Amino acid sequence: MNHTDFELIQLGHPHLRRQAEPVTEILSTETQHLLDELLAFVIAKNGVGIAAPQVDINQRLFIMCSRPNSRYPLAPEMAPTFVINPEIIWRSDEVEKGWEGCLSLPGIRGLVPRHQAIKVQYTSRSNEHIEVEYTGFIARVFQHELDHLDGIVYIDRVESTHEIMMEKEWLKQFTNN
Ligand SMILES: [Zn+2]
Repeated sequence: MNHTDFELIQLGHPHLRRQAEPVTEILSTETQHLLDELLAFVIAKNGVGIAAPQVDINQRLFIMCSRPNSRYPLAPEMAPTFVINPEIIWRSDEVEKGWEGCLSLPGIRGLVPRHQAIKVQYTSRSNEHIEVEYTGFIARVFQHELDHLDGIVYIDRVESTHEIMMEKEWLKQFTNN
C-alpha cells in the first residue's frame, strides 16, 4: 500500500485500542515496503513518530523521527529509527512530565508523565537485535509509540484535565509560533 492510501485512524476508532501482533517477516518485501511508506507518511504529517496501528495496521512496529517542524518547533533532530517488536527492559525511577501530541488526537496537547530514562530492546529493519538506552524527549517518544502497540493513547496517562490544551494555545505559550 502506498502512504497516500493510508487511513490515519483517530481516537474513538476501536482499532486504536487493540493489542498489536508481533512482526514475523521483517525482511519480507511487504514489511520493508510498509516501513518506507510509513516513514514517508509521518514526514508528510509533521509527526515525530508513528506506530503502525495509527494507520490501521495491527503490527508491533513504529518509527521515531524527531526533528523540528511546525508541530514541534523545538524537537531534537534524530535519524529516523525503525523499531520492531520493542520491549522496555529497564525504567528509571525518575519520571518527568512533558507535553505530547498525537496524530490520532489532532489539535490537542497533554502533559504526560514518562520515565526519564529507559533501556529498550527491539529488532531493526535489517533484522538485528538492538539494545539501547534513551533519555529525555526520545525516551518520551519511544514510550508514547510503544503505548500505541498496546492500545494506549497519551491522554490515558494525563493526570488532570487542566493539563490538556488546544494545540493552538500550546504553540502560542510554549514556542515562538
Ligand atoms: Zn500517538
